Amino acid sequence: MSNPYHHAVSSSRKWGGTPEDYQKIHDWFDESKMMMADFRHRALRHHAEGIFMCERIFGNTITLSNGKKIPTRWIGEQHVIEDLGRIPSMQDWFKHIMPESWMGKTKKLDSELELA
Ligand SMILES: [Zn+2]
Repeated sequence: MSNPYHHAVSSSRKWGGTPEDYQKIHDWFDESKMMMADFRHRALRHHAEGIFMCERIFGNTITLSNGKKIPTRWIGEQHVIEDLGRIPSMQDWFKHIMPESWMGKTKKLDSELELA
């Protein structure tokens, strides 16, 4: 499994600048390892919606230490492709969730009980 630093080195080789210019973006993609230490952590951000979320958080472009601007989405696409070989949709991850009874359980809200 690639470390965010190795993704950052790959970015700097591809678009210039230093690995540090890209580190915060690659850290963001992989910080879900705090919740799940194996590859399943990728379900949280390693998909097309995650790449667009990254763009909303970090802006449309980042400015490298050499002054060059790089589209943030390119960096997210590079990260996900390096990890998975392609860019899946969020649905590609969700369809593998095995439904459990507690997932669909609904309880009446207190306000609904008062009206009954
Ligand atoms: Zn990753």
